[in-house]
Amino acid sequence: MDKNIRICIVGGGPAGLSAGMYLEKKGYTNYTILERLDRVGGKCWSPHYNGRRYEMGAIMGVPSYYAVHDVEEFCGITHDGPKLNRNYKDAAGNVIEPFEPKKNITKIPRLLKMKKQIKKLGELLETKYKGYDLNGHRGVSEGRYEGFSQRSAKREPVSGVNPNLKDLALPFNEFCKKNGVELTQDVWIGPFTSFGYGYFDEIPAAYVLKYLDFQTTMNFVKVNLWTWKNGTQFIWESLNDHLKNPARLNCTIDKVERKDGKVYVTVNGEVEEYDKIIVTAPLYIPNKRADGQIGMVDYFDARQDEKDLFSKIDYERYDVLAVETKPEDHPEISYYVFDNMVPAKLGRLMVYYRRWKDTKDQVITTYALRKHKDKPEIDYDTCKQMVLDDLKTMHNPASNVVNEWSVYYFPHVFSEDYAAGWYEKVEAMQGKYDTFYAGEIMSFGDMDETAEYSRELVERFF
Ligand SMILES: Cc1cc2nc3c(=O)[nH]c(=O)nc-3n(C[C@H](O)[C@H](O)[C@H](O)COP(=O)(O)OP(=O)(O)OC[C@H]3O[C@@H](n4cnc5c(N)ncnc54)[C@H](O)[C@@H]3O)c2cc1C
Repeated sequence: MDKNIRICIVGGGPAGLSAGMYLEKKGYTNYTILERLDRVGGKCWSPHYNGRRYEMGAIMGVPSYYAVHDVEEFCGITHDGPKLNRNYKDAAGNVIEPFEPKKNITKIPRLLKMKKQIKKLGELLETKYKGYDLNGHRGVSEGRYEGFSQRSAKREPVSGVNPNLKDLALPFNEFCKKNGVELTQDVWIGPFTSFGYGYFDEIPAAYVLKYLDFQTTMNFVKVNLWTWKNGTQFIWESLNDHLKNPARLNCTIDKVERKDGKVYVTVNGEVEEYDKIIVTAPLYIPNKRADGQIGMVDYFDARQDEKDLFSKIDYERYDVLAVETKPEDHPEISYYVFDNMVPAKLGRLMVYYRRWKDTKDQVITTYALRKHKDKPEIDYDTCKQMVLDDLKTMHNPASNVVNEWSVYYFPHVFSEDYAAGWYEKVEAMQGKYDTFYAGEIMSFGDMDETAEYSRELVERFF
């Protein structure tokens, strides 16, 4: 492709900024990043409080975040944040140690069985499901894999045929049942459901296992995790500062028209002309959200195939509160509440995060899901009240809510559409209409998968 082409990138989150970085590394300097908010980082949002930054969005990474590491190297920064640690409570607020055999004598047989099944799943993923952990979903529903090995920073290109990969379209609980590894869900659920990615009876195994590949899950188990002192937003602010063309903020895109090989973007009332456009912002949002976000199909001259495919996308309603507690009520550590990570407990507090251990004048953040595919959605205010009530039950009552956010979270498709080749169809549309699709829906809703997808998109098409 001509290195001088004019490329418009919609969205200044990890996917959009990484796309800018990888384009620049490849010699494309004529790119423009348009961001609707007055800040970059998207779901990496780290506001200031009492002289420090807390996390309203992304919190952590793992050592296998190679694309994020690439960004760190580009900017000369590192993961220098407070060490993460956690404990567990039951729904009544008692501290428990669910994985400690000595504290759960009656559950020892189950714990032993779980350990065996984890080993079995690890082996199955290496053999029967070879190729499962590549970035993105290309070929999976057809029993193929294609991409780069994510096992080391070296990124070897790999591809192959593996019909077993079609099983990844199954909801994760069915996938586990099929393979006789049901108890592994006890471990995978912590960094999945409580992190807002939905329930195992509704979300295809592909999403679960591409994000929580075996290596990553073991890093969670061993709490071998990265954080950033100035928050995850700082990663993307740093990247933005190092780009030749930093993102333009406060951009309202009124209209995008694609005709005669050109892309006309109306930004804040002015028409701008480009040759290609990369969309990292949401492709489809069924109803206009209170925060004003709309899907790409609503401001682009969306074609029928785009409308048909993107209308299959669902997303999670994931709510975050940042609360103050009185010093005597401040939690010692972060807590997971497994009892609340089931669809029957929709809207309840699943995890809360204490970021700074050396001070009590910092907020804690709480996380709840209020939607399941087969259940009525819980409204925002009801969920908020449930979480505040739960904090009382946990013996860490909030004295004040400092910040709150209902997030457009983890866009995904369900098993039927996944199995019917949704990703194959969208991947086949890359570049058609001079448009490329990136961001969370194309891989998974975490910083590394989105940055890595942008890297591969640039490698494949530019
Ligand atoms: C509470 C929470 C916890 C999380 N925890 C983690 C974690 O610990 N580790 C991890 O790796 N990930 C975590 N994530 C997920 C991670 O933050 C996201 O997956 C990642 O930010 C996705 O990057 P993106 O660029 O695809 O999308 P986003 O971050 O959503 O960025 C999209 C950008 O596009 C902009 N935009 C939207 N519409 C338009 C428009 N019409 N025009 C212009 N711009 C537009 C948005 O304002 C936004 O800046 C968490 C997220 C949340 C909310």
